[in-house]
Amino acid sequence: MRQYQAGELIEKRCRKCFHDEAKVMKVERREFEEKMVLFLLCQCPECGMNDDELIPEDESVNK
Ligand SMILES: [Zn+2]
Repeated sequence: MRQYQAGELIEKRCRKCFHDEAKVMKVERREFEEKMVLFLLCQCPECGMNDDELIPEDESVNK
């Protein structure tokens, strides 16, 4: 699966200024509804808006 790390830019639309990239501030693995997800804390490099993103860990895993 795709690896995410702090400092990386991801494609994400800012809810405030609609900039289309966000900088990953922190990556955590969390359990969410009995699945492991990646919890990304992001920040818009344009306006500084903080946001978060949940990514299912099995999203890109073929079963
Ligand atoms: Zn923004």
